[in-house]
Amino acid sequence: MTVASILAEKGRDVFTIVQDEKMSKVVDILAENRVGAMVVVDSNENVAGIISERDIVREISKSGASVLKQPVAAYMTRAVISCDEADTVDQVMGVMSENRFRHVPVVTDGKLTGIISIGDVVKRKIQQAEKDAEDMRNYIAAG
Ligand code: AMP
Repeated sequence: MTVASILAEKGRDVFTIVQDEKMSKVVDILAENRVGAMVVVDSNENVAGIISERDIVREISKSGASVLKQPVAAYMTRAVISCDEADTVDQVMGVMSENRFRHVPVVTDGKLTGIISIGDVVKRKIQQAEKDAEDMRNYIAAG
């Protein structure tokens, strides 16, 4: 199972934002769309960072609601780890677990072409486990 197969099913839409936007805008978009992170892009649509609900909670706990008036650039993670469409779901799961984050942007030829969340990975792992169990039942029944 590959990243490309997940994107074929769930689509390639990614919520993006530019780094000059206020944090309050990130909060609104995350809440409205029930997602946990946005990819920060530059004017050429290249990935410049990622901002997630973890960053927002940490900064508000530290500095209070004034964080919401600050630009995304102040709090985003700049060293983004991305994946390739040819990567397997297990590889992406490994990257999430090693780095302890839940979102991995998909970059193809330098351009953002999707995003994989931990929810996408878990959903496919459950589907795979159900299929394996079904195959095993059929195999036993046929014997
Ligand atoms: P998350 O678990 O995805 O909400 O993110 C936890 C922390 O990791 C936050 O500081 C994010 O900005 C950062 N982060 C999330 N995804 C990535 C990624 N793909 N590459 C680098 N940092 C990330």
